[in-house]
Amino acid sequence: MNVLDSEKMAGILESRGFLSSSGDDADIFIFNTCSVREKAEEKLFSYLGRLKKKKKNRKFLIGVCGCVAQVEGERIFKRAPYVDFVLGTRRFFKIGDVVRYLIENYGEKILDVEMDGSPYPPEIKEIKRNEKFREYVLIMEGCNNFCSYCIVPFTRGRERSRKLENVLGEVKRYIKDGAVEINLLGQNVNSYRDPDGYDFVDLLSEVSKIEGLKRIRFTTSHPKDFNEELLSVMVANKNICKHIHLPPQSGSNKILKLMNRKYTREEYLEKIDMIKSTGIEFGISGDFIVGFPTESREDYEKTLSLLEEVKYSSIFSFKYSPRPNTLAWRKFQDMDEKIKLERLMNLQDFQKKIQLELNKSKVGKVYEVLVESISKKGDTLMGRTEQNYIVNFSGDRDLIGNIVKVKITDFSAQTLKGELFSM
Ligand code: SF4
Repeated sequence: MNVLDSEKMAGILESRGFLSSSGDDADIFIFNTCSVREKAEEKLFSYLGRLKKKKKNRKFLIGVCGCVAQVEGERIFKRAPYVDFVLGTRRFFKIGDVVRYLIENYGEKILDVEMDGSPYPPEIKEIKRNEKFREYVLIMEGCNNFCSYCIVPFTRGRERSRKLENVLGEVKRYIKDGAVEINLLGQNVNSYRDPDGYDFVDLLSEVSKIEGLKRIRFTTSHPKDFNEELLSVMVANKNICKHIHLPPQSGSNKILKLMNRKYTREEYLEKIDMIKSTGIEFGISGDFIVGFPTESREDYEKTLSLLEEVKYSSIFSFKYSPRPNTLAWRKFQDMDEKIKLERLMNLQDFQKKIQLELNKSKVGKVYEVLVESISKKGDTLMGRTEQNYIVNFSGDRDLIGNIVKVKITDFSAQTLKGELFSM
């Protein structure tokens, strides 16, 4: 979501005649920030500190946008008085006017972190994206769930959705421009509600009918809302990727309750069984928080056993990070850092073994892969199967943006290796 907001800000600035640059000699530095964990927030102030000295020698603007801007507001000016503007998560679209004003009135400051009360997110067409084969489309934003550890309801505000016709219009434009894959984005896609009553299942089926659209992904689905109806639409439509990101966060019912996740381990596992019972190869991924306050060894082991039972194709795992204003922050004492770190490392090792086993079973299979880029090492191409498995293989860089067939020949815990397959 933050990446998409950055692309919109760059698009707005470019449409106003400001060329974007990423060098040290830029005239405007904009930090679009994340505050989901404390570490990300601290990074911002360390980057800002580096710019402080430079500002003594030449004129340039520094802006802070995104979640840290939303939560910290005026405090950013107190901690970093050389910052020129602070724009909240629902005000970033004003960036063009703000920058223009401050160029003309250098030395003044702008703070705008109002939670825009409009029932719809703004329709922004100026989006600067370098690749055209894969597009990201916002369908809803905000969250009403208030998981006890999460700062998102405070940084992104309450849920609001775009109109169905606007989402469809944007997707159609991208397809016309050559997009192969569309990613529908929302903090909770299942909470999508068009004012005319269409829900996420309606939206997904409508999007899947768009002619020429080869792949649809969406993120993120809250486990409490994931249901048979949604799964049926995924199964019935070939162009909806068979990947489900279903973040459990913990395997212990005690911790899930304290996290206010509104499902039990058993209910979560029922949904996993429902997915597996389709007989279709789905990639299932999840997010985990270890070291949530009061997490006992037994609670933690329940999380490990959930990993074992589900066999996720990939996970994102983090140490609990207390975030201001959240219920967990107000109510609980944080756990010992050493224990949190130890549990995190152990969980990641545990998952690595599971992924190795899973990936081994894929050798010899042929997958359709959307080629995304040159691999990190620079010697092969990198792409993804519809299950979201990462595959590296040799091939011409002209294949980037195309779907090709790849036969899996080797594996590591994180990636599959393969070769181009032709019948
Ligand atoms: S569902 Fe929970 S974890 Fe996800 S954004 Fe909302 S409050 Fe945060």
